Amino acid sequence: MSSILTVEGVNKNFSGLKALDDVNISIEEGSVHAIIGPNGAGKSTFLNCLVGRLIPDTGTVTYFGQGKPENLSGVAPHEINQKGISRVFQTPEVFEELTIFENAMIPVMAHLDGSYKLNSWGGVLSRGEVIDHAEEILTDMGLIDKRDVHSGSLSRGDKRRLELAMCLAQEPKLLLLDEPTAGMARADTNNTIDLLKKIGETRNITKVIIEHDMHVVFSLATRVSVLARGHIIAEGTPNEMKGDARVQEAYLGG
Ligand code: ADP
Ligand code: MG
Repeated sequence: MSSILTVEGVNKNFSGLKALDDVNISIEEGSVHAIIGPNGAGKSTFLNCLVGRLIPDTGTVTYFGQGKPENLSGVAPHEINQKGISRVFQTPEVFEELTIFENAMIPVMAHLDGSYKLNSWGGVLSRGEVIDHAEEILTDMGLIDKRDVHSGSLSRGDKRRLELAMCLAQEPKLLLLDEPTAGMARADTNNTIDLLKKIGETRNITKVIIEHDMHVVFSLATRVSVLARGHIIAEGTPNEMKGDARVQEAYLGG
């Protein structure tokens, strides 16, 4: 297996507070790598350093998704996105005033105006092709029956579904998820787990998932890193981490 992303010696301070303290991590291509840890451990800061929202004070983030190694430190978020890295937020972000279908059209259309790298659809698409692709992805994600529903009125689970559809329309190689089931009822959480599994069946997308809910971690992850006070204190398979005393202490101490 080869790495799609490596993080080496990353530090991030917020006016004296060490949010990330010498973080080293390697994400294997094709894995579902969970980052767990108590509140305030630095998980979101870590993710923000990967997508260009924050720049590490020191250390390197290297991406291998485009053949040759690329240093992502200091690269703008939209450029990182163009390289094939997509991110979903803790709270689903969709255009609430638009319908599901209109939302799905946006990332598909974005391929037309040159702001996104041309993808395997072969560049400029006709209006019919744009509609076809948007419909295809909504069908895939189980949203086609609700295509004309205004997105603002959707349940949190359906908003997450739509947000993932919009991400997948960009055909990412690496998908970063920050607590994708936060605030969801159990049924929506289980739907989201099933959806993420389904995405994995037909697409080769590596996933980094920040997660609080151990049920989600054990359902999806192939690898787990434990972050506490800005530092990776343990790493292994979900089963190895389950019984690890350091992990339990970090959680009880957090
Ligand atoms: P987690 O996502 O694991 O809950 P965060 O990465 O959000 O943790 O936060 C890690 C630490 O850094 C916390 O102590 C938090 O208060 C602090 N922090 C996060 N973002 C900022 C910021 N923009 N400015 C100052 N402090 C921050
Ligand atoms: Mg967070």
